[in-house]
Amino acid sequence: MSTLNAKAMVMEEFNAPLQLREVSMEMPRDVIVVEILAAGICGSDIHMWRANDPRVFLPLVLGHEAVGRIISLPCEKHDLYGVKLVEGDLVIWNRGMTCGRCQACVLWKQPALCSQRWTYGINPPAEFGLLQGGYATHILLRPETDFLKLSEADDLTAMVIASCSGATAAHALDLISIRQDETVLVQGSGPLGLFAVALAKSRGARVHIIGSGEERLKLAKELGAEEVWDRRATTVEERREAILKGNAGVDAVVEAAGSPAAVEEGLELLRPGGSYLVAGFGDPAGTFELDPYRLARRQIRLQGVWTSDARHLAHAVAVVKKQPEVIKQIGTEYPLEAANEALLAMENRQIIKAVLKPQ
Ligand SMILES: [Zn+2]
Ligand SMILES: [Zn+2]
Repeated sequence: MSTLNAKAMVMEEFNAPLQLREVSMEMPRDVIVVEILAAGICGSDIHMWRANDPRVFLPLVLGHEAVGRIISLPCEKHDLYGVKLVEGDLVIWNRGMTCGRCQACVLWKQPALCSQRWTYGINPPAEFGLLQGGYATHILLRPETDFLKLSEADDLTAMVIASCSGATAAHALDLISIRQDETVLVQGSGPLGLFAVALAKSRGARVHIIGSGEERLKLAKELGAEEVWDRRATTVEERREAILKGNAGVDAVVEAAGSPAAVEEGLELLRPGGSYLVAGFGDPAGTFELDPYRLARRQIRLQGVWTSDARHLAHAVAVVKKQPEVIKQIGTEYPLEAANEALLAMENRQIIKAVLKPQ
């Protein structure tokens, strides 16, 4: 029996540095063991670290976005496209695990709403131990996990971004139909917003974005945004006047800002009959006043978006494969051991997204 020697950055206390721990065990035979090659730090990891997510119990290895190489595959397993997986394959996987039996899974066909849903790196079952998050050298994945085999040529930093931000953006845009040359406004220039720009563009939309940060807005342009509004350099009134000038408003808005004020602004920029997608709220962040008459009179569709499922991951991966060189620029690489530094850099908006790479 071989031994698995792993290292992980463990969250043992909230609001305190993660601790580097070594885990040594017999190679488990009831799970798929993946050597992690890159793991993303998601904005929601910061919320968890700051004790703002009631789903989280300690100790925990954070990290729900990762890619890696299968080193132990004790069962027969095929990826989402039916490709037989073997040890040595480079893979990405769906971060959420669903029960396949509840109403959401079976009747509504909306697994993201599964009542039993849990996520690697957020709230995995405690009995399977520490190695269930991305901030580690290895992760133990349940055989039911949905995988996608990657190619050796795929850029790992770019791929990591598909797993949460990308898949959630794909879920959002999956909920509306966009016709060629319709206008989609994205609010927010973090990984979710930038990915939404790439997806909306890939569907033939004309894309506008309201965001902040020079580098982020430059990337938004590279990803296909035609009009870029710096939220800090312009006022709500200036944007409204310019966006509504000579037209009835945008066809759809993807909110990726996580701010009630953004929702208030975005609803006013929609054309009558348009769709507003609320995708940027991972936890409660306040409220705003809504006049239901305005919603009814303008026949606005207001749609929430919660996480994503396997098909959205597949869609996001396909988008990354088309433009890895641009998408990888969203990520800044750090060694695994520098996870604390990376979390702080994300929290202070010094970088867009950190990608941890075990050495
Ligand atoms: Zn996430
Ligand atoms: Zn379910």
